[in-house]
Amino acid sequence: MVKETAYYEILGVPPTASESELKKAYRKMALKYHPDKNPGAEAEEKFKAISQAYEVLADPKKREIYDKGGEEAIKGGGGGGHGFDFHSPMDIFDMFFGGGGPRRPQGPRKGKDVVHQIKVSLEDLYNGSTRKLALQKNVICAKCEGRGGKEGAVQKCGNCRGTGVQVRIQQIGPGMVQQIQSRCHECRGEGEVIDPKLRCKTCNGQKIIKERKILEVHIDKGMKDGQQIRFSGEGDQEPGLEPGDIVIVLDEKEHGQFQRRGTDLIMQNEVLLVEALCGFQKTIKTLDNRQLIITALPGEVIKDKAVKCVMGEGMPVYRDPFEKGRLIIQFSVKFPEKIDPGIIPKLESCLPAREEEIIPDDAENVVMMNYNPEADHAGRGRAEAYDSDDDQPGGQRVQCASH
Ligand SMILES: [Zn+2]
Ligand SMILES: [Zn+2]
Repeated sequence: MVKETAYYEILGVPPTASESELKKAYRKMALKYHPDKNPGAEAEEKFKAISQAYEVLADPKKREIYDKGGEEAIKGGGGGGHGFDFHSPMDIFDMFFGGGGPRRPQGPRKGKDVVHQIKVSLEDLYNGSTRKLALQKNVICAKCEGRGGKEGAVQKCGNCRGTGVQVRIQQIGPGMVQQIQSRCHECRGEGEVIDPKLRCKTCNGQKIIKERKILEVHIDKGMKDGQQIRFSGEGDQEPGLEPGDIVIVLDEKEHGQFQRRGTDLIMQNEVLLVEALCGFQKTIKTLDNRQLIITALPGEVIKDKAVKCVMGEGMPVYRDPFEKGRLIIQFSVKFPEKIDPGIIPKLESCLPAREEEIIPDDAENVVMMNYNPEADHAGRGRAEAYDSDDDQPGGQRVQCASH
């Protein structure tokens, strides 16, 4: 039992969630509420909450402390004295998506990575596919080469002497002054001004322009949910920065027929009682539209919950696509609701004989009813079975006849 479930609820998973379920939940939530996509304080708070919940739950030690003592124990209250320092939500995000990381100490600074998620079907991941993705990105203006104007048009701002900060002295009382720092209004904090006459007309002095970019995303056979495809240096450009990467994250859609587990594909198959006992042939449509025939030979009995598998009909192995996993078939047997009592002797003569049941004289007859897991109280079901005639007029208790 866990003490609190808030962190689990933030990520939308049950407290029993596995590590991979937590990862998937974080990935979805973090991309959905990333401040780049949702400006505003509310989304930022949410993003932070998601990040903190994940940071705790992804670490088995921290998760154990949280499960035992709740948020208080994690934050170091209540005398527990753990008091973890949370990372910034952006650091957690960068670590998760493999960007950021320790930058090379030398070399140009790098802009941030841009992460996009695309939904892919199991068919895409089985057969491989190519997706075209249209993106808006910032590129350095080619006309002015990122200067914002003609050569020599850019001047250091005279108002702030290039610092971007304006310092004002204000008298707040006799002999008392206060220094107020604010963003320079001449250059809007940029530290430089561009002569309006020489300003680049293509980018309007902004140095960058928005450009529509089509990315071709190649989804290889056997790729899996959460896998990243990185486009190095395709992120937003900014003067003086090495552009970051565009990271495409695959989000595998649920499939109506197959569930994926590693390279195995799992499917449910319901067979009728007659098929379970007398054999069958059935077809299964594969993810590349072939039809497989599965056969249960006459005489072979398929039991309820039986699990069978077909080798080589699972998912392809990433980077070794001729290797494939297993197709696992979980059978369930559909029994008839009722059978005609008239055919019982015939049926019984076909089935393996039943064993004689010895019933002692003092054995008690009880009523067997459908089980309802919602009902409580031991023995109540039994009392109801005996008292079922009580509401009849007169309320006379009728003994349950034994026969
Ligand atoms: Zn320009
Ligand atoms: Zn200025």
